[in-house]
Amino acid sequence: MTIQWFPGHMAKARREITEKLKLIDVVFELVDARIPLASRNPMIDEITAGKPRLLLLNKADMADPEATKQWVHYFENKGLPVLVLNAKTGQGINKIEAKAKELVKEKFDKMKAKGIVKPRAVRALILGIPNVGKSTLINRLAGKNIAVTGDKPGVTKKQQWIKVGTSLELLDTPGILWPKFEDQEIGLKLAVTGAIKETLLDFTEVVLYALGYLKVHYSERLCERYNLADIPEEPLALFDEIGRKRGCLMSGGYIDYEKAAEIILRDLRAEKLGRLSYELPLQ
Ligand code: GDP
Repeated sequence: MTIQWFPGHMAKARREITEKLKLIDVVFELVDARIPLASRNPMIDEITAGKPRLLLLNKADMADPEATKQWVHYFENKGLPVLVLNAKTGQGINKIEAKAKELVKEKFDKMKAKGIVKPRAVRALILGIPNVGKSTLINRLAGKNIAVTGDKPGVTKKQQWIKVGTSLELLDTPGILWPKFEDQEIGLKLAVTGAIKETLLDFTEVVLYALGYLKVHYSERLCERYNLADIPEEPLALFDEIGRKRGCLMSGGYIDYEKAAEIILRDLRAEKLGRLSYELPLQ
């Protein structure tokens, strides 16, 4: 589902998250490992101010492992703890509990020293833009299929805690944040990875953008998949070439770009070109 964000929705999402933040000790910020910056909310630092945060690079199974390694270093160097996950299979999620405990240790030790509270579980909230895998992760952590949905307007639902392991509790509804959409390139990255519907953008433009990126970073895989001897300089010429190779022609010999775009996007999503990341940290 793609949410269309308007200023009113953003204000409401922010209010709801602010309320939830009062209940928790640590924020799990979920992003797409293939585009860890483009899939972040632009105001995340401000919104979560003061709360310890663990960054979760999800969908790592689809990301380029070399790029993911670079991203882990990048965020750790910035002082942001990070874990690499596949929420679909659960790979990596067994490390979450220990990391969360580590992040609140100082606060809990202080409380203990002051005799303020009895030992209790660490409470956490999952935050992220739509489609990064929040519900999938909550279901995984819950260990069974509970119905997890975002807050629906007009329906007040009691917050529930999901027990994870022995010392972690997770709010059963995630905080849904808006993506950065003021930047055209970010929109294109979100569309390529399926975080927003490509129909919201020009379908062929999304593919043209992807080809421009792949040409620079994964040229060998493009050559192999589409049987190209070499890669044309211009992304549009590359688009033409792939279209021709795949027989996407209209009468008069013109390239049927829509059809070619559909084939390429399907290939990318089905990992026919392997595991791809669409962002790298600046060196
Ligand atoms: P939410 O909107 O953030 O709650 O996202 P969902 O949990 O609904 O996930 C969006 C889509 O991504 C679904 O089709 C999931 O099956 C898929 N997904 C979630 N996590 C992963 C993952 O780690 N790997 C892969 N390959 N797909 C995932």
